[in-house]
Amino acid sequence: MIACLGRTVHGTDANSTPDDDVSTISQLLDLQGSIENGGITGVAGKDFGGLYSAKPLAVIKPSGSEDIARVVKAALRTSHLTVAARGNGHSINGQAMADGGLVIDMRSTEENHFKLLTIDGSPYIDVSGGALWEDVLKRCISRFSLAPRSWTDYLSLTVGGTLSNAGVSGQAFRYGPQTSNVTELEVVTGKGEVTVCSETQNSELFFGALGGLGQFSIITRARVKLQPAPDMVRWIRLVYSEFEEFTRDAEFLVTQEEGELFDYVEGFVFSNSDDPINGWPSVPLDPDHEFNPTHIPQPAGSVLYCLEVALHYSHSDHHSNIETAVSRLIERLGFVRRLKFEVNVSYMEFILRVKQVEEHAKANGIWDSPHPWLNIFVSKSSIVDFDRTVFKKMLKDGVGGPMLIYPLLRSKWDDRTSVVLPEGEIFYIVALLRFVPKGPSVEKLVAQNHEIVKLCNNEGLDFKLYLPHYQSKEDWKRHFGYQWSRFVERKLSFDPMAILAPGQQIFKRTHINLNQHSQL
Ligand code: FAD
Repeated sequence: MIACLGRTVHGTDANSTPDDDVSTISQLLDLQGSIENGGITGVAGKDFGGLYSAKPLAVIKPSGSEDIARVVKAALRTSHLTVAARGNGHSINGQAMADGGLVIDMRSTEENHFKLLTIDGSPYIDVSGGALWEDVLKRCISRFSLAPRSWTDYLSLTVGGTLSNAGVSGQAFRYGPQTSNVTELEVVTGKGEVTVCSETQNSELFFGALGGLGQFSIITRARVKLQPAPDMVRWIRLVYSEFEEFTRDAEFLVTQEEGELFDYVEGFVFSNSDDPINGWPSVPLDPDHEFNPTHIPQPAGSVLYCLEVALHYSHSDHHSNIETAVSRLIERLGFVRRLKFEVNVSYMEFILRVKQVEEHAKANGIWDSPHPWLNIFVSKSSIVDFDRTVFKKMLKDGVGGPMLIYPLLRSKWDDRTSVVLPEGEIFYIVALLRFVPKGPSVEKLVAQNHEIVKLCNNEGLDFKLYLPHYQSKEDWKRHFGYQWSRFVERKLSFDPMAILAPGQQIFKRTHINLNQHSQL
């Protein structure tokens, strides 16, 4: 078997074709699922970023954990094959790719787990690592009137994909990221072992996998905390002209006591112009709302800020009670009083709000164009400098899509996970979600992202990349900082041959001594 898989990749047999290779692997693996040729044009050779491409040897659609374990063990028996779990391929920089390796299409396992549990009186759902959050939402609400507590803004992402990063949205200030809202995982390690892990069982593997960039294991099942699903949401946008007031209010809202909280707090920066995508028209929540620029206090700068908040309520809540609750929550805020926009939408509509953006962008042909996105966590101590140099100058005309900025609380994150954060209790997520047509401008935008990161380094800002992308070991070491040694130890324990997630470009596949590993 070892020899055959080796030949598959490096064979010099002139008659060997990719089809032969795939059918050979298929026979050797004896999968319950299926296997297909890789190829650069296939879906596994691309991702949402559209900046990188790869040619995997084969794409495997496993039937479940046992198939995944077989694939990993087979790769281990070779000296060179890597394995990438592919969630929904919504990475930006090829993180879910495996050039010349085996890609596991996790979506084929999405139906494997969906079970409600009650533990100590609280509801949880066991879901597949390859399930889309969108489907988790719909099924949890329609079957049980329950919903996960912590989300991402967009839900066509897999459970395993977001848990391998963090999973952040406007609920994270309250409940922490998605990685703080799972209590048990089933994974396949880089040694091909199917293992259940939690805070108390194989805890190093559990915390390693959360935010672990797919480096230690492939998540096949996750146990997610649930709460009663609300019926409706009051969704509000409040405009600010001054950054200091915007951040003061945003920080005030995310540090309030339980019981006096919005259910969601986010924010964004927009250009002080009439540009339909980057400027004033991007703020109103309803086509009937008008953004009247004469209400902007003068003098105002090149960019303005918008705090976005939401409050859950149920059909049985009286209208006046919702008004009172909202008024109490916003009365102390210093937003521009005449630039307030609000709508009532169903909870499902709110949680799925980016789906509409997707449909619109698909119709305009920019959904499938490259997305040179940049996500950064910037500490409170550095955010004013970031605003001054990046938003007010470099990005004053916008990025062709949302420029998100909102505060998060470090105490809601578990520092035993593999996620790295800047210092301090309050830090901001900054997301530059560029939507650009295909063309040479893409390189310029990638260069601008590099320039922003360089500037953060040169100015000594306290920041960490979210969904990080580095190509050199030195950069990765700097990224992980004091947590680098723990990350390396976890790699040695759970994926010692560096089989998994090669697209992250953190570790190089190790050449193994086949005799030593013949028992695998
Ligand atoms: P993929 O891109 O397929 O994989 C990402 C990485 O995880 C790869 O290294 C892959 O090998 C690994 N991986 C995938 N599945 C598994 C698994 N089961 N086990 C172990 N490793 C695995 N993020 C946020 O936090 N908040 C947001 O609001 C948000 N919004 C987004 C909106 C859009 C439109 C897009 C494109 C991305 C957004 N993201 C957001 C980023 C997103 O969370 C990450 O890109 C995530 O990795 C995408 O999930 P995926 O299933 O497509 O993963």
